[in-house]
Order: sequence, then structure tokens, then C-alpha cells
Amino acid sequence: MAQIIDGKAISAAIKEELKEKVEKLKEEGTQICLAVIQVGSDPASSVYVGNKKKACAYIGIDSLAYELPEETTQEELLNLIDELNEKEEVNGILVQLPLPKHINEDRIIQAIDPKKDVDGFHPQNVGLLCIGQSGFVSCTPAGIIQLLKRSGIEIAGRECVIIGRSNIVGKPMALLLLRENGTVTIAHSKTKNLQEVTKRADILVVAVGKPKMITREYVKEGAVVIDVGIHRNENNKLCGDVDYDDVAPICSAITPVPGGVGPMTIAMLMYNCVEAGTKR
Ligand code: NDP
Repeated sequence: MAQIIDGKAISAAIKEELKEKVEKLKEEGTQICLAVIQVGSDPASSVYVGNKKKACAYIGIDSLAYELPEETTQEELLNLIDELNEKEEVNGILVQLPLPKHINEDRIIQAIDPKKDVDGFHPQNVGLLCIGQSGFVSCTPAGIIQLLKRSGIEIAGRECVIIGRSNIVGKPMALLLLRENGTVTIAHSKTKNLQEVTKRADILVVAVGKPKMITREYVKEGAVVIDVGIHRNENNKLCGDVDYDDVAPICSAITPVPGGVGPMTIAMLMYNCVEAGTKR
């Protein structure tokens, strides 16, 4: 039977470690502060922002919430970011995506001081990851590395296949697995013979954005399967990109949805905030 990789327990352990660290920092006179900006009132974004604020409160990080109206202009948002870049007491700046269509997301990401870019999306941080130097790393792939390491799964020397090449998941995932000495392949929508490619994987990371697309035909027996996808099915239940019931019996370890990768993203955001507070 496959080992079920428990993202809830691992993220809780990371949050406990961070809580202790934040308490120590407070005793030494350092208070960490995250500024969270939301433009508009997209319900999914509001849930994510609420969860981030809750995690900050639990760990002992101050959070400043900026809830801006949908009609906020790009210039107004850039001015706020400039202001927060200058504020010494603010260690991290997070702009909840997606932004309304009249605002250029790339322009906004690039305006954030890379030292406060706790999402790890700024090109400077992406570049540092690429050349193997330390900087902020995108939270979801960083969380997956923690899931693997804390579950005792060896990465070095193993065949790692990632399905998906987005800037926030697929590409940084590939770079992180490479940094851990995996042999890395990235598959995407133009990949030929996808099943042949994915069946080579000892570690298969699925970030394809298609509910239950990955069945056992894509998976080598004994592989480790990490499911990044989050969807709601017809019964309003959460499911991933992997057909869990079909795949779990043939793999050595697998992440469930919910309770796998999902909880790790916020834990790693908190980790990045603490890093931002200690490196100034
Ligand atoms: P994107 O839609 O940005 O990327 C999907 C990728 O999958 C693209 O690279 C695309 O290829 C590739 N793809 C699409 N169809 C196929 C196919 N049939 N065969 C092979 N490759 C294909 O998604 P994200 O990376 O943002 O997210 C992926 C999933 O992870 C989503 O379900 C999302 O909700 C979830 N997610 C979960 C998070 C969490 O915290 N758990 C955080 C972020 C995302 P191409 O580039 O050629 O178009």
C-alpha cells in the first residue's frame, strides 16, 4: 500500500517550528510583518487572503491588510507598493493574484523589492534560483521539496518528471529538483507520448490543471506521485489532477487532495516571511 504523504501534518510541524523562531525573534526585539494586498473582491482570493492572515496570527507575524476596490488603477497600486518597499517595519509584500484585467501583473511583481518578495515571483529571485543562489522560492514547489524530504524520499539521482511548466509551479519545481540532484524532465501540452515520458518517473509531479487526468497508465509501478492540482468536482468535493483511487494502489507514496500539497503553500509563505525578517 502506498505511503500517504501527510501535508497537513508536515505543514503543521513547519508552522510550529516557525512559531518558536518568531517568539525568539520577538524576545530579541524583531517583529516580522507581512503586507497583504488584495484588489477587488474575488471570493476565492478572499479565502486565500483570509487563510494567510490567519496563519500570520497563529505564528506571531503581524499582517497589514490592504483591501483595495476593483477600480484601483495600476498607478495607485504601484504607489502603494513603493510606500511598502520603503517602510522598514514591513518585511514581506504579497499581492494576491489574479489582479483585475486593467492591471499588468508582471509590472506589479517587478515593482516589489526583491528582498520583500515573499511569493518568490520577482525575476531577480527566479534568476537566483536558476543560478543556484539563495533567494525567495515560489511557495508551492518549495513546499513539495519539504514534503519529499520530511517523508524520507530520496531525490538525488532519481528520474523526476514534472507535468506543467508554469512560472509559479512547473518551472521552479524543475529547478528545485535539479538543485536536489534529481534528473529532471518537464512535460507540457506539446509533449509527444506523454505516458511514455511520465512512466520513466521515480518522482512524478503533476501540475497540469486538469481534474483526475493522471491515471495509472501514466505512472510507473512504485513511483512517488505528487498532485498539485486543486479542483471541485460535480459534487463540490475537492479533487486533484491525479485520479487518486486509480493511482494510489500502484505507487510507493502519494499526496492526497485535500491534505497534500495545498497546506504546504501557506506554510512556505510563512517560512519566507520569517526569512525576510531575519535577513534584513
Ligand atoms: P497552468 O494552467 O498555468 O499550467 C498548466 C500546465 O500544464 C501548462 O504548462 C500546460 O502546458 C500543461 N498542460 C495542460 N494540458 C496538458 C496536457 N494535456 N498534457 C500535458 N501538459 C498539459 O497551471 P498552474 O501551474 O498554475 O497550476 C496547475 C494546477 O495546480 C492547477 O490545478 C492549480 O489549481 C493547482 N495549483 C495548486 C496550488 C496549491 O497550493 N496546491 C498552487 C498553484 C496551483 P503548456 O505550457 O504547453 O500550455
